[in-house]
Amino acid sequence: MGEFDLIARYFKRPVRRSPLGVGDDCALLAPGPGMQLAVSCDMLVEGRHFLSTVDPERLGHKALAVNLSDLAACGAKPLAFTLALSMPSVDEAWLEGFSRGLFALADAHACELVGGDTTRGPLNICITVFGEVPVGGALLRSGARPGDEIWVSGTLGDARLALEVFRGTLALPAPVFDLARARMEQPTPRVALGLALRGIATAAIDVSDGLSGDLSHVLEASGVGATVDADRTAGLLAILAHREGPGAVPDASTRRACALAGGDDYELVFTAPAASGPAVEQAARSTGTPVARIGRVESDPGLRFVDAGGARLAQRFAAFDHFA
Ligand code: ADP
Ligand code: MG
Repeated sequence: MGEFDLIARYFKRPVRRSPLGVGDDCALLAPGPGMQLAVSCDMLVEGRHFLSTVDPERLGHKALAVNLSDLAACGAKPLAFTLALSMPSVDEAWLEGFSRGLFALADAHACELVGGDTTRGPLNICITVFGEVPVGGALLRSGARPGDEIWVSGTLGDARLALEVFRGTLALPAPVFDLARARMEQPTPRVALGLALRGIATAAIDVSDGLSGDLSHVLEASGVGATVDADRTAGLLAILAHREGPGAVPDASTRRACALAGGDDYELVFTAPAASGPAVEQAARSTGTPVARIGRVESDPGLRFVDAGGARLAQRFAAFDHFA
């Protein structure tokens, strides 16, 4: 199968909303009147962002999910995406699974594939997403103000626990591992929450490199600091530990490290004035997204973690950095 047959077979679908999709030199997009285009690009490299053994359908989901998560963090509504794909050979079973996972998530968000590029090379997936947001309405990293409360969606640290099981550094009971693995391989981009937070949140970011590092980006961009209750961020496994008893899951300090610096969560961390608490809760309810208040923005720069009793944690939680 040649390059163009492959594109036609697996990636060309009629566009519904965009004026022009796959098949010409450019695609054409039509953001609504008064809207700005929100654009973001994320690359997934085999061996670095995913294991070679991953189910291609889950990989198709994740490749788009991590990009939609960036739109969510800006409060942008998904419109379309492009896919640049390099792969060592034409593996039809792989392409079939990959495109199925990709389009299932794309359809769920009415986000259409409008173009891309396909070449031979190491397995590498690069998606660019396009969304729309009213002029001046995007959620940015720079808007946090002293006194704002800090919120996070979902749970943090679960994906990292699964990764550590793959690395052999910890063991989990099979049903718990399956849950953590699903969080790692099929993250849920919080698009509806991001949209519902427009006009409410003062700043937002999605957690891809760990809460500690990503929240620090918000604090630096906003010229503020924060204190966060480390144990309010505890993930899925804290809930399971509670239910199944200690011993069923890793100890609290491992869970804490994963929650604060684990990465690959694709949850939103955002700030809002304390008076907007009820509006945040309403946004969470209306979109069916769990959220938790985890801390407060302060004028004193830096990010401080405390335990449930308010005692300052000495441990540092380094952010993921590809070149550190
Ligand atoms: P060009 O040479 O003009 O860059 P290509 O020959 O690379 O175009 O691609 C032909 C058409 O197929 C273009 O519309 C391009 O956007 C689309 N395309 C190529 N690869 C992909 C892909 N992986 N997914 C979706 N569309 C693709
Ligand atoms: Mg090309």
